[in-house]
Amino acid sequence: MSENEHDVEEQAFLEEVTAHLPSDWSDERRNTYVQNVLTSWRKHRTHSRDELQSREKYLSTIRQYFKSQSPELYDFKQWPINENLLAMLARGSLDSDIVNQIQSTGVYTFSFLPTTFCQTLINEIAYFEQWCVDNGLELYRPNSMNKYGVILDHFGFDKCLNDIVNNIVEPLTRLVFTHVIPPLDSHHGFIVEYAMDKDRKLDFHVDDAAVTLNVCLGTDFTGGQLYFGGVRCVSHISNTKPRTDEEIYLEHQVGTACIHLGNHRHRAMPITSGRRLNLILWCRSANFYAVENNHGNNTCPTWCGFHQIEKKEDI
Ligand SMILES: [Zn+2]
Repeated sequence: MSENEHDVEEQAFLEEVTAHLPSDWSDERRNTYVQNVLTSWRKHRTHSRDELQSREKYLSTIRQYFKSQSPELYDFKQWPINENLLAMLARGSLDSDIVNQIQSTGVYTFSFLPTTFCQTLINEIAYFEQWCVDNGLELYRPNSMNKYGVILDHFGFDKCLNDIVNNIVEPLTRLVFTHVIPPLDSHHGFIVEYAMDKDRKLDFHVDDAAVTLNVCLGTDFTGGQLYFGGVRCVSHISNTKPRTDEEIYLEHQVGTACIHLGNHRHRAMPITSGRRLNLILWCRSANFYAVENNHGNNTCPTWCGFHQIEKKEDI
């Protein structure tokens, strides 16, 4: 951004601030207030610009110098995805022998990848992490909640994950989550890692996604089940308890995936031994997001687990 563009940006910000000041303020009070706001805004802008620059540098270093040890992993066409699943998606109809819903909760599981492939993927992740250490690069972790794991989109998996969204997650979404408005037009793909001396669990939360694909890659572990506690709209996320029929504990199986709504509240139970790595793909839809965040409309949608309760109580 040029200096001139910065001036324009600052001018626009100043106009926005001054337009909302009380009209009975004196010029002196007005000036002091505007100067204080401007000083903290400039600091924040410099910080954001520095963050953006260091991230760009990190990504360009990886693009330029990182050489994969298993290049086939980055090509979706070479992913040995379960043939039955692919055939079902090609037919365009749900087969409960292939994609199984857990107790009407809206969590679906299916066999996805061979365990040998999962292990190759784990090896590649370890290789990338070690490469970062060797080259003095500090890894960007997956999100604000997970302190271990990596962001797959950062080292070449972006296109492959995009293909997974288009060929697997979106067709599945059309079959099982019909209220989610396609297309799934962006994603965040990462690996989470749990171990006794690392993150052991993850607290109750929802994902920043319309739909989430979660694949267990390995390795040997006990515990670490995924607990689900009900799908909720924005108004009911934090102020309603799960009903008994909404509560499930899903055991991980290497090579098996589950798909659920981003708004489906869940937690990762503590692992009790070993090490667990899962591939998580948050799939977003700008259309769905726009409807969901329609601030003028606070009505609870039909897909919210609490919506049904309110309806039943009304009757
Ligand atoms: Zn609701």
